[in-house]
Amino acid sequence: MDGLLVTHLPDVRYLSGFTGSNAALVLAGGRAVLFTDGRYTAQAKQEARGLRVVIAKKAAAIAASEWLAAAKVRRCGFDAGRTTVLEMKAMQKAIKIMPAKRRRGFFTAVGPLVAELRWVKDSDEIRKMRRAAALGCRLFEGVLKKIVPGVTEASVAAAMEFGARMGGAEAMSFETIVASAKRSAMPHGKASGAKLPGRGFVTLDFGVVLDGYCSDMTRTVHLGNALPREREVYDSVLEAQLNAVAAVRPGVTAGEVDEAARKVLRRAGLARYFSHSTGHGVGLEIHEGPRVAAKQKQVLQPGMVITIEPGAYLPGTFGVRIEDMVLVTARGAEVLTPSTKAWIEL
Ligand code: ZN
Ligand code: ZN
Repeated sequence: MDGLLVTHLPDVRYLSGFTGSNAALVLAGGRAVLFTDGRYTAQAKQEARGLRVVIAKKAAAIAASEWLAAAKVRRCGFDAGRTTVLEMKAMQKAIKIMPAKRRRGFFTAVGPLVAELRWVKDSDEIRKMRRAAALGCRLFEGVLKKIVPGVTEASVAAAMEFGARMGGAEAMSFETIVASAKRSAMPHGKASGAKLPGRGFVTLDFGVVLDGYCSDMTRTVHLGNALPREREVYDSVLEAQLNAVAAVRPGVTAGEVDEAARKVLRRAGLARYFSHSTGHGVGLEIHEGPRVAAKQKQVLQPGMVITIEPGAYLPGTFGVRIEDMVLVTARGAEVLTPSTKAWIEL
């Protein structure tokens, strides 16, 4: 290939700095050209410094395809996982000035090339992720006093989201999860109109976007006196979480980290209630690689930021999840979300 067409917006941002909503980046013949539209003339110049910017009157990927054809690029890679069938049809049409023979096989699927570059963060990105994670911790610590019986899950989420904005966040990194009582047994129970119970768990899973980078953490607290079984499950999930965090270091596989969490829950008889993987990479996007899941062969490297978030969900009863963001360092790991994970009874 002598060209690469990058259309996934977080990848475009990663390579060029440009944050607009219509963008394509072409890398060919030692050149980098950013395509966008008239809404972004000033912003593109400001954000994508030193790059050639083409303001087009059509979708950026189409303008980029026409440019590639005119520039006599022979073969161009594209991200098959991020291109729809419809977009590909339009891209093929955009290169019709080329002879049919050259058009065949011109666009070559390359898979998540740029996404994998993004798995390892540089020092500037780590600084931003630290700040996003720290803001998340402040939100959790600040919202504890609002967690009282009778208020709605949505009002708890609202307090956190207001705090996020006031703390400089441009958005939440996903819809805030506040799942109380029986709803805590749903791993992705979005904050609802349900009222917090007099007695029971409240799971908070939330994140902010600060300077483009996402944070992600989960804490589970208890309202009122816990039953022995509730305390037991919490302690097992915490032990699993700590064991997995302790397993994180360069050279181990993501699958080994998953197993470190899973085996603790297996021993506690909770394996079948741990219905998802242990974690995921996080960065410009809330879910990136590497996947921290059973049998994943991906080897951890310094600079990767992953989540460690085992849980146990007893259907119709209650659930517990504890999640940290963890930076893989040269010698081990650093937890970026150090808010307490000790048992909290409110
Ligand atoms: Zn989360
Ligand atoms: Zn997560």
